[in-house]
Parts: sequence; structure tokens; C-alpha cells
Amino acid sequence: MADPAILVVNAGSSSIKYAAFRHDDSPDPVILGKGQIEGLGTRPRFVGKNEHGEVLGQNEWPAEGFGHAEAMAFLIDWLEHNEADIHVVAAGHRVVHGGLLYSRPVQLTDAVMAELRQFEPLAPLHQPHNLAAIRALAEQFPDLPQVGCFDTAFHRTMPEVAQLFAIPYAMTGQGIRRYGFHGLSYEYIARRLPEFAPDASRVVVAHLGNGVSMCAIHDGHSVESSMGFTAVDGLPMGTRTGALDPGLLLYLIQSQGWDAGRVEKLLYKDSGLLGVSQVSNDMRVLLASREEGARRAVELFCYAIARHLGALAAVLGGIDALVFTAGIGENAAPIREDVLRRAAWLGIRLDAAANRAGGPRLTTADSPVSAWVIPTNEEKMIAIHTRDLLAAA
Ligand code: ADP
Repeated sequence: MADPAILVVNAGSSSIKYAAFRHDDSPDPVILGKGQIEGLGTRPRFVGKNEHGEVLGQNEWPAEGFGHAEAMAFLIDWLEHNEADIHVVAAGHRVVHGGLLYSRPVQLTDAVMAELRQFEPLAPLHQPHNLAAIRALAEQFPDLPQVGCFDTAFHRTMPEVAQLFAIPYAMTGQGIRRYGFHGLSYEYIARRLPEFAPDASRVVVAHLGNGVSMCAIHDGHSVESSMGFTAVDGLPMGTRTGALDPGLLLYLIQSQGWDAGRVEKLLYKDSGLLGVSQVSNDMRVLLASREEGARRAVELFCYAIARHLGALAAVLGGIDALVFTAGIGENAAPIREDVLRRAAWLGIRLDAAANRAGGPRLTTADSPVSAWVIPTNEEKMIAIHTRDLLAAA
């Protein structure tokens, strides 16, 4: 018999990633399979895997006539009628921006979709594609319940002062404020942290993946994020700059004749670990490299994390625990060691052997502040939200 499943969708400009979770009451939903369609617009290709990561199916199409709508239809059909033997009963979507309206997931009705379209200018690289996948599913499967889960929602608890830019206040009213992102990852970590550090009330989480941000969490609620109006703020990332002196952008535009497209490419594509190292955006490559550029990029990366940690610890009035997560945070022991050594002043006593072994605890038993590796799982967080919201409805 086909397994009832929640389909979790993360739709970008050129790719749609999915994961299917068994639909039941388990506090920890079981994954049934995952995969992606990449190369939309150029060379669309599909890989679908089972829960063990074994490839169950592959496909390719010509770019013409195969967009987000065709991709979503293919995915559901493949899941239900091919190898995977799944019956999709609901879809949960990662949606980058919920604006000020959405502090929790929401069922995606026509009225909600109209609201979400208004946030497209706030996240032009992601929001339109997130919504395109939802529309495509709604058109083909009008009875399928769909839920939107927002990267911004977890940060709606940030106090007003943390949401302000020092710009004329009327502009804040127009939505120009600090929102914060990676919220689904932080929410997942906040849910799991009590298993590791039940007494930790003031916590900093470092989400170190291709996208990089840090979050200050007080009693399970976000109070500050390194990301602001867009997901380019804060720390250096794989190819994104992180925070820049805004005067630098004016200099490029006014004195060097740069246009918006060139500035966007600098901010999002040419910078971060890749730009500084001139070697790679992949931390594995940088850590294995002997190039001076790779060393420089790694040093800047760790320095920036330590600097932000100081700021977030100040916001919290000290910390009880520090958590590393996402690709680099979960796997790159040398990065964690460098950051933890720089954080000794906070009362962090590194257990170097435990760190090399991957934790979960990275600090000695007598360390006043504990540090941890906790793997994130944004897809599972979306599956939990989707199930719970539909059960409540
Ligand atoms: P995304 O933000 O796309 O979800 P991930 O969380 O998968 O990204 O993180 C990708 C980053 O994790 C890359 O920089 C990659 O090099 C790094 N990474 C993954 N595995 C390791 C490893 N074993 N050692 C060091 N870095 C790693």
C-alpha cells in the first residue's frame, strides 16, 4: 500500500528540491525519500532517492517547455506512480519571506498568496520562485492542502530595536527593517537543544552552510540575527559578501561606474569564501588547500564568526551555550576549533578530541559555557509544521 506522505518543497530559480515524509503522529517524522530537479531553464534533470540515499530514478528534459509547473507535476506523478510508492496528502513549502504578517506557518489560500506576492520585491531572487511552485501545484491539484513555512517567521520575536535600521522612521513603516533569515533551521535547533543542554537559556546558534548566519535565542525565541533586510547581510558566506560598508557600494556606483547588475553580482556571486580565496566557495576545498588565498578566506571566516558571537553574546547578556549547525558547522572541525578558541573569553573550554570526533558536546565537563554540534533539518521542520497545522485545521 502506498505510504501517505507530506511533500516538502524548496523551490529556487533553477532548482526544486523536495523531501517526502511519512504522514503520521510521530514527534520525529520519518523521511521516505528526497531529490531534486536542477537546471530549470538550461538543462532540466531529475534525481530521486529513497530514504537511504539510493538513486531510484533519473530523468532529463529539453529546457523548452519544462518550467516550474511541469516540474511539480512530474514530481507528484513520479512519487505516486513510480518507484517511490507514495501518496501525497499535503505539501509544505519553504517560503523565504513572510514579511511582518506571518510569525508562524500558514495554509496557502488565494488570499494568503496575494499577500505573499507583495513581499516579492523584498526577496526577488527567491520569493517569486517559491510562489511559482505553490501556484503550479494548486492549479494541478486544487484539493491538495498546501502550507507555507517562512524563513523570517522565527525572528518575528526580535524586539523592535533589533529590527530597526538607523534610517528615517517612515521608511521602517514601508517595510525597510531587519527581518532575519534561516528561521526554520534555528527553530529546529531550538526544539532539539533541550535534549542536549536542558538548562541553556541564552544561546547563540551558528548556521554555517553555503548561506551563513548566526542567531541569538533567549528561552527558545529569536532576539537577534546577523542577517537583516536580505540574506546577504552579516557574515561572509560561500559567495556572498556579508555586511559591507554601504559607502563602498556608493563608491563603486559613483566613482567606478558600476550598475546595479554588477553590484548584485559582487554581493551574491563573486565574494565570500570564493572571492577572498580565489580558490573555491567549498570549505572542504579550502581546508585541504595550501594556497595563501584559502588560508586568508578561512581566517576571515572564523574571525567574522567570533566577532558576531561577541555582539550576540552582548545582546543576550552572556551565553549558556553555543551551537554549530549546517554543512560547515556540522562537519568542519578545524573551523569549530578556531572559533571556540577565539571564544575562550566567554567561558568556553574546548574539548579538542571531542570536537575532532564531531561532538555532540565540544566542551569539557567543567566548561562554564557549553558548545555543541546539532545537525539541522529544515525539511523536517517544514513537515512537522505542515502536519500540525493541518491537524489543527
Ligand atoms: P546549504 O546552505 O546549501 O544547505 P550546506 O549546509 O550543505 O549548504 O553546507 C555547504 C557547506 O558545507 C560547503 O561549504 C561545504 O564545503 C561544507 N561542508 C560539507 N561537508 C564538509 C566537511 N566534511 N568539511 C568541511 N566542510 C564541509
